[in-house]
Amino acid sequence: MPTALATFLRRFSGGDPLTGRPGAPGGGLPGGQDIESDLEITLEEAYRGGEKALQLTSREVCPACGGDGINNNSFCTRCGGTGFNSGLKTLTVKIPPGVREGSRIRLKGQGGAGFNGGAGGDLFLKVRLLPHPVYQVQGSDLETEIVIRPDQAVLGDQADVPTLDGPVAVRIPAGTGTGKRLRLRGKGLPGRDGARGDQYVRIKIDIPTHLTSEEEQLYRRLAELRKGV
Ligand SMILES: [Zn+2]
Repeated sequence: MPTALATFLRRFSGGDPLTGRPGAPGGGLPGGQDIESDLEITLEEAYRGGEKALQLTSREVCPACGGDGINNNSFCTRCGGTGFNSGLKTLTVKIPPGVREGSRIRLKGQGGAGFNGGAGGDLFLKVRLLPHPVYQVQGSDLETEIVIRPDQAVLGDQADVPTLDGPVAVRIPAGTGTGKRLRLRGKGLPGRDGARGDQYVRIKIDIPTHLTSEEEQLYRRLAELRKGV
């Protein structure tokens, strides 16, 4: 299971932004701060969901001095007078299937620690889709490119195209030009309404550069025939 190292954007839920010490609304025990972080996942992970180990740097209020940095009239030895302790922790994040770019996954109580037994803040993970080598994402639609030969473009053919559900045989119509997009309905990502977007297959024609003498003869013959049209 891959482990992602998250960098933190700290968000203070009220209180002092320098010490991170939140206020205590309603006079209850002060809670920890909410923390927001990015979660980078692949398109496949977003589509199928699953679990991912996430390594976080945590910065928590020093329990020895309560965040003051001073203990018994001298600098706190536990935190070196900073009032905070840093550490690494590993969490397992459940990724719901069909999660979208920008969605937030909430991990209750995994934010900053509370004070004096107060509840911990929450950790919000904002989903970021990593660039994919095969698919380009446009909203809930996907786009892929396939490369075909000139004869396939002229005569038509069938080609295997990768989709999130596995390869699909796609019919290439005769006379397909470069840049043409074929639509695979419902092979995209789940949209806001739950319905899946489409996958577009962009056609690129590969012009052969190393011809056998027989191929070259045939191309010359084709050229002669074209002149007569
Ligand atoms: Zn301390």
